[in-house]
Amino acid sequence: MNALHTTIRHSAVFDHPEMGTHEDIVFVQDHTTGLKAIIAVHDTTLGPALGGCRVWPYDKPADALTDALRLSKGMTYKNALAGLDLGGGKAVIIADPRKDKTSAMMESFGRHVERLSGTYITAEDVGVSPDDMEAVARQTAHVRGTQATGLGDPSPYTALGVFEGIKASARHVFGSDDLTNKTVSVQGLGHVGYDVARHLHHAGAKLIVSDIHAPAVAAAVEAFNATATDPLAAHAAEADIFVPCALGAGLNARTIPEIKSRIVAGAANNQLETTADGEALKERGILYAPDYAINAGGVISIALATPGCGDNVVRHKTIDIGKTLTRIFERAEKDGKTPEQLADQIAEERLAEARIA
Ligand code: NAD
Repeated sequence: MNALHTTIRHSAVFDHPEMGTHEDIVFVQDHTTGLKAIIAVHDTTLGPALGGCRVWPYDKPADALTDALRLSKGMTYKNALAGLDLGGGKAVIIADPRKDKTSAMMESFGRHVERLSGTYITAEDVGVSPDDMEAVARQTAHVRGTQATGLGDPSPYTALGVFEGIKASARHVFGSDDLTNKTVSVQGLGHVGYDVARHLHHAGAKLIVSDIHAPAVAAAVEAFNATATDPLAAHAAEADIFVPCALGAGLNARTIPEIKSRIVAGAANNQLETTADGEALKERGILYAPDYAINAGGVISIALATPGCGDNVVRHKTIDIGKTLTRIFERAEKDGKTPEQLADQIAEERLAEARIA
């Protein structure tokens, strides 16, 4: 490779639009197992960088880099806002989880995590199963969220945090967190959404449910006496609260004008398509619970659980998500900001204080 090529390649990484203040970006490959991965450590001011490992068949390595950089930064903010003494990181493996992924590949990934000596702690994310994480854990101690390291599946804690966040949102908008006879539209009835629907049903809410997977809808209709709706119309349902628990970017220029609920509070990651969509919700008088604040129960369980521990500490900290959201809503209103902007500000303040200390 000549000097010119070297310059262009370095420039492509350091000038990347998502490069920001990332501390470490490690490119990993192992020809024997086919592993191609990027481990991005965004910020370790508050502690080692915790964030999941995603296996995804990215079209090009550049897309994987963009995803790793964005997701790792998101973890810094999520962990800071949740009050965890952890920084933010994320790993992406470029592979089709259904065709290419093998135990040998995941073990190889584990060996590379081990080389980072604990700067990065990995966990499960999209495309990774508990068995994959067990393979990773055979090669490194820097893993969380397995049965051996704690409480296993984080979804019930994510759901509990979302339920507490919905109550905090209701207190702010309706003056009470009594959900009896409030109508709630839950979009996505997977690991988290179904459990949120269960909490809401027990709290006396009337449920409108939707999912692209018909059996999940049938089960929720039966178990929670819910009404089914088309997933594409879930945001526009005649409801008091909209709870997105499917995929991201569901709040956008097309959907926001159609929302009838006064509150949007759900588990899905990256709900706002753009930051302008946060402003659009505010202008319409719709309270939005920032996704990375309300869905932090899972990372709290991964971060705080220890082998053989009960779940008391995790439950308390997860229930505190309601208090955090109340703080965000009140300060945002006072400062004329959107809740998303305020959540970012609180996370940045915590990081700035830690840098001075
Ligand atoms: P999941 O895959 O178990 O469930 C997602 C559900 O959404 C599935 O039932 C799927 O059929 C449904 N779905 C997909 N597209 C849809 C659409 N267009 N309309 C309606 N339903 C649709 O995932 P999960 O673990 O329940 O996570 C749900 C969301 O919460 C995701 O955005 C995830 O990133 C986020 N999240 C999850 C956790 C966790 O602990 N699992 C933590 C933080 C954030």
